[in-house]
Amino acid sequence: MGARSTIACLATIAVADWVILRHPPRWHAIALFDHPAHVATAVLLGGTDPLYLAGSLLPDVDHIPMAFRSPQAGDPRPRTHSLYGPLAVAPFSPRLAAGMLAHFTRDLALDPGVPLFGGRPFRLPYAAYAVLVLAAAYSRSRPL
Ligand SMILES: [Zn+2]
Repeated sequence: MGARSTIACLATIAVADWVILRHPPRWHAIALFDHPAHVATAVLLGGTDPLYLAGSLLPDVDHIPMAFRSPQAGDPRPRTHSLYGPLAVAPFSPRLAAGMLAHFTRDLALDPGVPLFGGRPFRLPYAAYAVLVLAAAYSRSRPL
């Protein structure tokens, strides 16, 4: 992966999170920023395999029914955001499951965290996510 694509991924994440954290849009508009950032995160962590990238958006299918129930930013993430999803999918498609894990990596750093085991949400400091993404970007753009 070239330095340009790496920088494009980092910029996508930086712009998305600057908007989401500093100027939170309405719930329905967050996806416009959050989903490109999910894909950019997945690309940095695991590459551009199409099935893997589809997995990086898959856990958010639950946002479609939620969208009709006047959700608010910061509402708890539903149970599709648990490790049981990738565990169920992994035997059929490890690449799809890996994409779902990349999705959780980002969601863990943003409120309200991820209910990894279906119950209470887990949350990591945003800095941990930032360091991970920067390290992945560095290792991807480094000349061999
Ligand atoms: Zn999500």
